[in-house]
Amino acid sequence: MGQPETKMLEVDGVTVRFGGITAVNDATFSVEPGTITALIGPNGAGKTTMFNVISGLQPPTAGRVSFLGDDVSDLGTHARARKGIARTFQRLEAFGSLSVQENIQVAAEIHQRWSRTKVDIASKVDGILDRIGLRKLAHQQADSVPTGTARLLELARALAIDPRLLLLDEPSSGLDEEETDDFADLLRSLVSEGKAVLIVEHDMDLVMGVCDYIHVLDFGTILSSGLPEEIRADPRVQDAYLGAAPDDEPAVVGGKA
Ligand code: ATP
Repeated sequence: MGQPETKMLEVDGVTVRFGGITAVNDATFSVEPGTITALIGPNGAGKTTMFNVISGLQPPTAGRVSFLGDDVSDLGTHARARKGIARTFQRLEAFGSLSVQENIQVAAEIHQRWSRTKVDIASKVDGILDRIGLRKLAHQQADSVPTGTARLLELARALAIDPRLLLLDEPSSGLDEEETDDFADLLRSLVSEGKAVLIVEHDMDLVMGVCDYIHVLDFGTILSSGLPEEIRADPRVQDAYLGAAPDDEPAVVGGKA
């Protein structure tokens, strides 16, 4: 038997209260390296708040966050990013007046400044453009690309900081079926390098098809954790989120336009 592998991310007893609202309630879960893990649940369940806690935007009322075995609870967003936690937002954050390529280049240059390694920025940006499938749109202004493409650009910018853990908030919204399939392949290729991906996502076909493990949040509490088939069959998750879908097919619920 080998040594137990260090977890990529450990969330331990995290609670977040906003006045009288408990957005996250004593949540404990972990994310393993080399896996795609989903955090799912109804609107208002606390998923974005949880992402904010992990990325350092939201100090928890109680609990701790560890990354690769180190307690990062007292670190801010930049320090966590330097350690390898990258995040995309539901609200798009790219520089609208810059081109797709320039947006990735800015992120790569920022990363170059933090890290001691010297890399060829142009070839790094080229590699990311090809990998994410944005080559054809490289010179298009970021605020003129469709929403689905803009989400891919967010992911491209996140990759430019060479992350170990990617937090992706509703990454597939705006992608058509074929683009979503390509996106699933991309996620698999990212985790095959040992990165970990944690996604908040309402597209249940994507979640059930691509994720290795799923945590379900409901009213801020982890209601269930397990393999996709375990989550699909869990009556508590059916009641709280998936609904009574015909033919055991999960419904796509709570998605945003
Ligand atoms: P969605 O799927 O709609 O994005 P979510 O699961 O991400 O929902 P959160 O946005 O984390 O849920 O919200 C959880 C709860 O906390 C909600 O009741 C929300 O209204 C509340 N909440 C979130 N942020 C704040 C805040 N800054 N101040 C007060 N209440 C907040």
